[in-house]
Amino acid sequence: DKMIDMPALFKALEFSAFKHKDQRRKGPQNIPYINHPIQVAHVLIETGQAYNTNLLIAAILHDTIEDTDTTEEEIKQVFGENVAALVMEVTDDKNLFWEARKQLQIEKSPFASYDAKLLKLADKICNVRDLVINPPDKWSLDRKLEYLQWASDVIAGIRGVNQPMEDLFDEWIYKAKAYY
Ligand code: NDP
Ligand code: ZN
Repeated sequence: DKMIDMPALFKALEFSAFKHKDQRRKGPQNIPYINHPIQVAHVLIETGQAYNTNLLIAAILHDTIEDTDTTEEEIKQVFGENVAALVMEVTDDKNLFWEARKQLQIEKSPFASYDAKLLKLADKICNVRDLVINPPDKWSLDRKLEYLQWASDVIAGIRGVNQPMEDLFDEWIYKAKAYY
């Protein structure tokens, strides 16, 4: 069934664009942060063939709790429990040190729900692609290579959920490695 709840999806777009309004992607192009969640949802639809409204809403909201003042409670009230639970599944605990957060993503990814795995896959596709087309200005070559390895380690734990997106991930890893 390809029915997407368009009013709900656009409500999420408006909500997320407002929450991320003062944020930009890392990198020299000064791209509004909201472009990233939009791209993640785009990959889910176009490559993943995902027509699940809650998943697409969660994609639009996926970095709001991690990177803005948005709370789990707020998302629960505005978009419901299922969306909130999905966003929480892809939200790092910022109380932990950076290294612990990164390590936990590798360890926990195999146990994520099916929808969370699709969302993680789309998110990593977009971040690896950004590393090629709009890389963070301050990152050394080592930091970029380390990121590519880490993203590959996270995705290794979730393979088997969506072949077209896994292929697209591999393509961008290949391009990134050829580029750097
Ligand atoms: P990173 O600093 O490792 O940055 C990677 C993340 O940045 C990506 O996963 C992506 O996440 C986001 N991103 C934004 N713009 C781009 C872009 N153009 N290309 C690729 N990715 C992009 O992760 P965190 O954001 O989790 O950590 C940030 C904090 O950690 C900072 O305060 C930093 O100082 C600190 N830090 C500590 C280190 C250490 O202790 N060794 C090392 C590095 C950073 P998303 O999908 O969420 O946008
Ligand atoms: Zn993201």
